[in-house]
Amino acid sequence: MAEPELAKRIIRVLKKLSAIHGSTMLARIGGGQPFRTLVATILSARVRDEVTEQVVPRVLERWPDAESLAVASPHQVEQVIRRIGLYRVKSVRLVEVAKQLMRDHGGRVPSDFDALIQLPGVGRKTAGCVMVYAFGQAALPVDTHVHRISNRLAWVKTSNPDATELALRAVVAKNWWSRVNDLLVHHGKTICRPQRPLCGDCLVWQDCAYGVKNRRPD
Ligand code: SF4
Repeated sequence: MAEPELAKRIIRVLKKLSAIHGSTMLARIGGGQPFRTLVATILSARVRDEVTEQVVPRVLERWPDAESLAVASPHQVEQVIRRIGLYRVKSVRLVEVAKQLMRDHGGRVPSDFDALIQLPGVGRKTAGCVMVYAFGQAALPVDTHVHRISNRLAWVKTSNPDATELALRAVVAKNWWSRVNDLLVHHGKTICRPQRPLCGDCLVWQDCAYGVKNRRPD
């Protein structure tokens, strides 16, 4: 159970961020469609949003579903996603995932977290993103932004994203889970950047010990 003060502080911060941040790339590009969201999430790891947003539609134009992607060769996929970081690994992964979807799920993306993390190369973050952005379910996908900012805000004290996810589950009210990724990823890309966060421009600095220390006096 979260300490009441911490729980209140978290909701205060999330509400403030809700007022200023729009949707993240995955919410936009996934369009609430499970296969599209899964492909976009796999491709987006360590890639700039603008590149992902250009490449995902090309992949889906050529292979709109698991059935078509399952019979593609990784080499064919490579030719389409070359601009994406780790494109060789991701090409193999996309085809393997499509094959497993055909074999175990009738070509559909399962709406079950435990089934999603059984797909090849699909970890908790990717599964959580699909649950949130494709199925509208409560999940807490934690990427590097969510991990970094949750620690800066002292919501958790953890050393890796999986530990952060578990810790966040204990302190964030469940009705806010699905918003955490969207809001903190956006905040991490615009204000609370990995290097030199813009604490002077941050709307939530008063609830952030790191920010209070980091802000220059006016
Ligand atoms: S005050 Fe600084 S460190 Fe804290 S959330 Fe804002 S930008 Fe990040």
